[in-house]
This record gives sequence, structure tokens and C-alpha cells, in this order.
Amino acid sequence: MSETVFEKILSGELPADFVYEDDKVVAFKDLYPQAKIHLLFIHREKTSHVNEMMQKSESQLLDLFRAINRYVEQHNLTEKGFRIVTNCGKEGGQTVFYTHFHLLAGEQLASFGRS
Ligand code: 5GP
Repeated sequence: MSETVFEKILSGELPADFVYEDDKVVAFKDLYPQAKIHLLFIHREKTSHVNEMMQKSESQLLDLFRAINRYVEQHNLTEKGFRIVTNCGKEGGQTVFYTHFHLLAGEQLASFGRS
């Protein structure tokens, strides 16, 4: 299967604006931001979507959430709020088939609820 853009970003073949790195996880700015802060968190080990990650290695999910937690704490986003999203599969709106979590913040995001 051909490489996704995120593999190319990880290998350095494509440029990206990195905002977080540890031995397991990296995060970079989304090229087409949907909020003032729009970051993508990926694991260095590839899976295609969150369900595959869950089946192959639940600990990778924990690695990602630990990294997101570190980032939001370091950038004081907890108090104001933020959103974490993962799209899974075609009908879920996934376009890049390398598991990733969107972190959206920095402005008032639309609520899913009616109130
Ligand atoms: P998905 O639609 O799969 O949930 O999210 C893929 C995300 O990757 C989209 O928000 C899209 O804007 C972002 N994206 C696509 N190509 C690139 C790229 O080359 N560089 C970066 N930084 N983001 C990208």
C-alpha cells in the first residue's frame, strides 16, 4: 500500500510544523486548520485508524492521550477547553489513513448539543 502523507511527514520527506515530539508520538499543525489551534497527533508506529490501533495495541492509544494531555497542560488549554476528534473510515470522514487525533482549540467551537 502506498505511503500516506503522515508517513512522509514522519520520515522528513514532506515538511510539517512540529509542535510536540516524544519517543512514541509526534504532533504537527494541520495544513488546513479548522480552528485557531488545530493539531494532529500521531503515533510513530503506523496503524490505519483508531479501531485498528485498539485491536493491535491499546497502549498506543494511551501513548497518544498522554501526549495530548502533556500538550494541553503545557499550553494551559485545560481551563479554556479543547476538542479531540478522530475520524474513522470513509463515512466517518477520514481522509488520511494513518491513525490521528485532531486537537482543536483557541476559540469557541460549535457545540453538538442544542442548549
Ligand atoms: P482526516 O480527514 O483524515 O480526519 O484528517 C486528515 C487531516 O490531515 C485533515 O485535517 C487535513 O487538513 C490534514 N492534512 C492533509 N494533508 C496534510 C499535509 O500534507 N500536511 C498537514 N500538516 N496536514 C495535512
